[in-house]
Amino acid sequence: MLKKASLFFVLIAGALLAVKPAYAADTIVINAKVITVDEAHPAAQAFAFDNGRFTAVGSTAEILKLKTPSTKVIDLKGMTVTPGFNDAHLHPQAIFDENSQYYRVWLGGDRVKTIDELVAALKRKAAITPPGKIINGYGYNDVLLGRHPNRHDLDKVSTTQPVSITHGSGHITVVNSFMLEAAGVTKETADPPGGALDRDPDGTPNGVIRESARSVLSKGHRDERAGGSNDRVAIPHDEEVKGYLNCFRQYSARGLTSVGIAGGSPSSFRLMQELRDAGNPVRVGFMFSVGSFDQLQAAGIARGLGDDRLRVTSLKNFQGNSLSGRTAWLSEAYSDRPDYFGIQPARMQEKLDEDVQKWWDAGWQVATHSNGDREIDMVLTAIERAAAKNPRPDARWRIEHASVMNQALLDRAKKDGVVLVFHSYMWEYGNILASYGPKRLSMMHAYRTAIDMGIPVAGHSDSPISAAYPLLRIQDMVTRKSSDGIARGENQKVSVDEAIKVWTLGGAYATFEENSKGSITPGKLADFVILQKDPREVPLGTIKDIVLEATYLGGQRVYSAPEKATAMTPQPPINYGEGNFGDGDEEENENGIN
Ligand SMILES: [Zn+2]
Repeated sequence: MLKKASLFFVLIAGALLAVKPAYAADTIVINAKVITVDEAHPAAQAFAFDNGRFTAVGSTAEILKLKTPSTKVIDLKGMTVTPGFNDAHLHPQAIFDENSQYYRVWLGGDRVKTIDELVAALKRKAAITPPGKIINGYGYNDVLLGRHPNRHDLDKVSTTQPVSITHGSGHITVVNSFMLEAAGVTKETADPPGGALDRDPDGTPNGVIRESARSVLSKGHRDERAGGSNDRVAIPHDEEVKGYLNCFRQYSARGLTSVGIAGGSPSSFRLMQELRDAGNPVRVGFMFSVGSFDQLQAAGIARGLGDDRLRVTSLKNFQGNSLSGRTAWLSEAYSDRPDYFGIQPARMQEKLDEDVQKWWDAGWQVATHSNGDREIDMVLTAIERAAAKNPRPDARWRIEHASVMNQALLDRAKKDGVVLVFHSYMWEYGNILASYGPKRLSMMHAYRTAIDMGIPVAGHSDSPISAAYPLLRIQDMVTRKSSDGIARGENQKVSVDEAIKVWTLGGAYATFEENSKGSITPGKLADFVILQKDPREVPLGTIKDIVLEATYLGGQRVYSAPEKATAMTPQPPINYGEGNFGDGDEEENENGIN
């Protein structure tokens, strides 16, 4: 009797399933610890998806009832699931295989520990570099090597081709004798202001060139940082596409299912379309640099155009200077220079107001890079003036980085409905940020205060400025600790659940997509990540070491951990005084995507 009733129920349920696609299930995931990021049902054991979207969330017993003979069952045996991660602002870069002639040799401490190893790595590159083209590498660590490499070392790589490498800080370049000669650098060449040429005992420059002295190379073969490309191997378009696909696959392997490209030209947008067509496993939200505004208006392109794989989300604007260059404009002097407040942005308030009104009236969402509190004040002022003239409910303008905050600015951001896209990179840069002093650190990347106030926040890596590695970024938000273990601005710590929400639903909200992604909720895109451990249950300093088992995009498995996988924790960076951090956006308008 009971059996018959059950069977009857199953038949009825089956009939309901057939007519009610909301409960269909081509796949069910069971026995998991599901962090749904859905306030209505924060925790679950199981869920179903069909046709790329979640269809049900519940207990394993409940979800098993949706199983039909054709349903695929994934038993996670206690592993943890979160929604796919969303990095709201980064800058992808083409990544090439080490055997590719387009590869720039990575000389970081994890690969190169002696001068001999450095020379050997560059020789391998020389062997595949066509005559006349530059042999380049980056990221060497002089402490590990015992000294800076010099032209005598690099001459072992080649005496007939340019060889140029950069230090991990990005502030020192080393070249071979061929390059010095081509640039006309001799014993007589003086050190330019703000830079230095290291020299052999007889006074001849030894190839180590510091800071602004790198301008001496501009006469001949130009230095990389000076924008030199004449000597570089040109990258064919199809190779470039492959290089970018490698980059997005790497994002996917770290759990990202959505990213925001923080500024680009129409040609870089076209490249993103090619990547989508080539199967890019990450959803892309694209911010056009504001320089493209007139073209976009002429073509009738507006925010939201696209689909869930590639969408025009915003304009990317700059109103501010650099945290790393210590040029960000501040209301209180830099801690170690009582008379110095940074540099006022070139665009004054009046012009900013005019620009903002134009973009505002055209209906755009604008994401503005601003670091210093006086810069942020200017941006909020312009937004407030534009809104006063032309109220726009839910315009969701964004401030990117918003590094040096204070309570008054947060109050205004809340009132103005602004989304704050903060960094979380104490792990990489905490020891440098320390120079901003405890008072400013207590309001730097002010997640705790902003969340408590109900201000929408999203997370970002600004990759390559910090690693596009959500588990590390989340660890950073809950510990505020640098890689040497020192915490800074601890009052801004948030919980693991809060950090996960910022990196999922927070990112979705920042692009007006909170109804289609960012949580494990029936109806939303089935983007999720399987973690071997629950980040809430490991020591907080080891969240970055959790192995990512798989990444799913729209119900498709787009990344699987290899057998015996280990975490892909990035190496700690080498910090030498003032490294490059905090912004990294300076050149994006020139270079397209970067
Ligand atoms: Zn950026």
